[in-house]
Amino acid sequence: PLTITVDGLAKLLGVQNSHLMRKMANIGMDKLANDYLLTNEEAAEIALEYEVVPIIPDSTGPELYPRKIPEDMSVHPLRPPVVTIMGHVDHGKTTLLDTLRNSSITAGEAGGITQHIGAFSVQLKSGQAITFLDTPGHAAFSAMRARGANATDIVVLVVAADDGVMPQTKEAIQHALDADVPIIVAINKCDKHGVDPSRIKDELLKYGIQTEDLGGDIQAVEISALKGTGVEELSESIVTLAEILDLRAEVDIPAQGTVIESQIERGRGNVASVLIKRGTLKVGDIIVAGTAWCKVRSMADDRGNSVKEAGPASAVEIMGWKEIPKAGDMVLQAENEGQAKSVVDSRVEKRKNKDKLAAVAAMNVQRRETH
Ligand code: GDP
Ligand code: MG
Repeated sequence: PLTITVDGLAKLLGVQNSHLMRKMANIGMDKLANDYLLTNEEAAEIALEYEVVPIIPDSTGPELYPRKIPEDMSVHPLRPPVVTIMGHVDHGKTTLLDTLRNSSITAGEAGGITQHIGAFSVQLKSGQAITFLDTPGHAAFSAMRARGANATDIVVLVVAADDGVMPQTKEAIQHALDADVPIIVAINKCDKHGVDPSRIKDELLKYGIQTEDLGGDIQAVEISALKGTGVEELSESIVTLAEILDLRAEVDIPAQGTVIESQIERGRGNVASVLIKRGTLKVGDIIVAGTAWCKVRSMADDRGNSVKEAGPASAVEIMGWKEIPKAGDMVLQAENEGQAKSVVDSRVEKRKNKDKLAAVAAMNVQRRETH
């Protein structure tokens, strides 16, 4: 029989081993070791904890699987970090995103007006790039996480200096800790009179966020999203953390990504924004997301510029979908239209038989391990 180790399952689900083992403990499993071989039933039970519905081999028809992550990533190029901004309402998330977005518009650039496609890229003076997700906050983050697709590498936690830690601040901290996504704190509204940023750091300590000043390893940057002060420093902190995380991706493989937004647009048909995670997507390629497939008719970046290809950590708006895919769906490249159609048909068929399939990420817990 095909089996998978705890370690293998964690990789497959894109979560930390420690996190997976905590889940296992929660559901009463006690063989908590990285190399412990799980039975199919155990693996399926754990996967369901992440709202990933495993597809059991004897019920699979045609299917697409993500490529195995190579043992040695060091031979692959670095990629930009993907960052989500979280925090309590009115603490300045939208203002910060706007400031960041504007910071990267250089004079004379073609198509200077940014388009909302769910993510945008900021080019730093140092030549490095950062991809910011700007899909509405916590809900989108949870949805992607629930689908086993950790789209984010880093969370920037915005805390207003004049308000401090509030309910959604705590919620954001919890989301990030659960997903094992590192945090950078942006203490915002530091332009306001009488605010004391160090008070915020003290307060955060109570919630497990130990900033560098207080002997921890979490960076905290004092900013004014409104005035733009400290925003460049924030970007530099992100780049510093990204270097430590050593984020790399294969470039020359079929594309894999995540749908970040989708809608039907007048005159343009079904449109979906996709964050490419691995590989390169080109115009003319065939992709599948959930029960939708697409022959990529055209792609556009966050400036509305038409692009012919998109590599790791870039977000593109894609035209040519036969159906609308859902935000959070995993995107995988098919070899041809025939394969895409049969994969979609078999997924539709599987969906009919299960109720929890809204969150399906087409993963095969057992078969993947043998690839
Ligand atoms: P969001 O709900 O987190 O997206 O917060 P917004 O970006 O909409 O900001 C809420 C309010 O705070 C708005 O009136 C902003 O103008 C204001 N604001 C945001 N950042 C700053 C800042 O750095 N300084 C000051 N003084 N006001 C800010
Ligand atoms: Mg907002």
